[in-house]
Amino acid sequence: SKAKLFDKDQKVKTSFKDVAGLEGAKEEVQEIVDFLKSPEKYTSLGGKIPKGALLVGPPGTGKTLLAKAVAGEAGVPFFSLSGSDFVEMFVGVGASRVRDLFKQAAQKSPSIIFIDEIDAIGRARGKNSMTGGNDERENTLNQLLTEMDGFGTDVNVIVLAATNRADVLDKALMRAGRFDRQIYVDLPDLNERKEIFEVHIKPLKLDKDVDLEFLAQQTPGFSGADIANLCNEAALIAARNSKKAVGHQDFLDAVDRIVGGLEKKNKIIT
Ligand code: ATP
Repeated sequence: SKAKLFDKDQKVKTSFKDVAGLEGAKEEVQEIVDFLKSPEKYTSLGGKIPKGALLVGPPGTGKTLLAKAVAGEAGVPFFSLSGSDFVEMFVGVGASRVRDLFKQAAQKSPSIIFIDEIDAIGRARGKNSMTGGNDERENTLNQLLTEMDGFGTDVNVIVLAATNRADVLDKALMRAGRFDRQIYVDLPDLNERKEIFEVHIKPLKLDKDVDLEFLAQQTPGFSGADIANLCNEAALIAARNSKKAVGHQDFLDAVDRIVGGLEKKNKIIT
């Protein structure tokens, strides 16, 4: 069977309400929503709408969620792919996939292209030349740069890309007219963790004893993805114990389990 080229979502339902915390980042991407919704307002004085922005931050902090919310808020289609899908690809496939992606997005203009883990294709070029290099990755990166430069003023496609390694990216990506804006998406602070809990307890049947303030205090260093996972784990623990609702102790047990899991993972890495 043929590998999936990329994902597209023509009716994005995600909105800023789904993204807890990240007030600064939301403010910055609000401008992108405006560019997509009313481009004339910005181009009427001769200005050029930016083509790309880089979302930078640790794993699981909501970069994909935020990009999707931009599409949802602007009411435009969302085309996405992950840089990691390009690793070990046959010659020519990466570049042609990028070409197809940009072509389809332009046909559906205004639209958003989202490239997750852009570092997998966007690492500085020429560093592997001693080992024979990874020519296919370079071809893919070159195609991406070509496409971004090639957009005419008649299309309104904004490319968002996510990375947790902005430091390894090829400087050519950050040049004016490409990903010349960086938006930081950090780990949540105490208050933001509480807000993320509020989003993810919504689908759960909760006991009255659940104390979100306390849970936020017990979870320093957790990302939004970790908190989403924690809420789900608490619901599974409660169900396993045949409870009628998810209680405070279930959340605490889930914290222990997740912290234990994170410690194990870190041990394997080091
Ligand atoms: P990665 O770098 O690992 O791809 P990411 O930064 O793109 O991660 P997401 O994929 O957006 O992170 O987040 C994963 C999930 O975690 C989201 O679908 C959501 O359920 C939850 N989540 C993360 N951040 C937030 C947030 N700020 N508010 C609400 N939910 C969040």
